[in-house]
Amino acid sequence: MSLFSGLEKFGFKPEDSKEILKSEKKEEHKEEQKKEPVKKEIPPEKDFLLPKTVHCKVCEKDFRTKVVKSGKTRRLQPDRDLRPRFQYIDTLKYDVFSCPHCGYSALARDFDNIIPARTKLIREQISSKFTPQEEPEADFYTYDMAIARYKLALLNTTVKKGKESEKAYTCLKLAWILRGKADTLSEDIPEEKEAKKKCQEEEEVFYQQAYEGFNKAISEEMYPICGMDENTMDYLLACMSYHFEKYEMASKCLARVLTSSNASRRLKDMALELKEDIVAQLKH
Ligand SMILES: [Zn+2]
Repeated sequence: MSLFSGLEKFGFKPEDSKEILKSEKKEEHKEEQKKEPVKKEIPPEKDFLLPKTVHCKVCEKDFRTKVVKSGKTRRLQPDRDLRPRFQYIDTLKYDVFSCPHCGYSALARDFDNIIPARTKLIREQISSKFTPQEEPEADFYTYDMAIARYKLALLNTTVKKGKESEKAYTCLKLAWILRGKADTLSEDIPEEKEAKKKCQEEEEVFYQQAYEGFNKAISEEMYPICGMDENTMDYLLACMSYHFEKYEMASKCLARVLTSSNASRRLKDMALELKEDIVAQLKH
């Protein structure tokens, strides 16, 4: 029996009603398709960014860069090793300032902290070889642009003989940003899978550099180091030690966090979780 039997009296034949159902289904389907992208609409990255004019102490020129609007981003659960994560945007991409005129580049937090003796080193060893860049017209930085900026910043820290911690932190953030890029690549598409593997290999190299650098930094420098207090640094080193399967070192760092009188509850909880994983590894 047709769902629409009984409508004949209104002049509809059952065949017609079948047509109606068909087209109704089609309509529904169309609407679903229309709704789908609305539900998942992702605000463009440029909505989270602001232009900023920065003065370069190396060449004494100004340049425009992009910074993340404060208060606009939503923080997500960080990775275990404290890599910050935000909804819709990888803010790490905007943590390097890079002068397009002379090549001087550094983490935004360190950009202005450069003494004259070091500007001289940058001029001699970076600016003299640097090809001035057109200021980027892009609305946002791609991962590859950001990675290039970080590598330039790392080269600068080496040339200016900066603090061990600054070099280590640049390496850590570079490793994190490579992880961010790897996250955007699919295992299912052969070219992307290949690129992902490369990202992960590179991440490992810079992570190792960061690890060695921080280990040196804690014996030479005073806290806070790169804005981190002793507890945060101990926790970070524990995570990194765990990654490199240096369980004894990881346990030592964790013990310091767990017995610290001023570590936050949250950090202690994270330390306890990590400790459980270390114990599990040691049982194997
Ligand atoms: Zn400059």
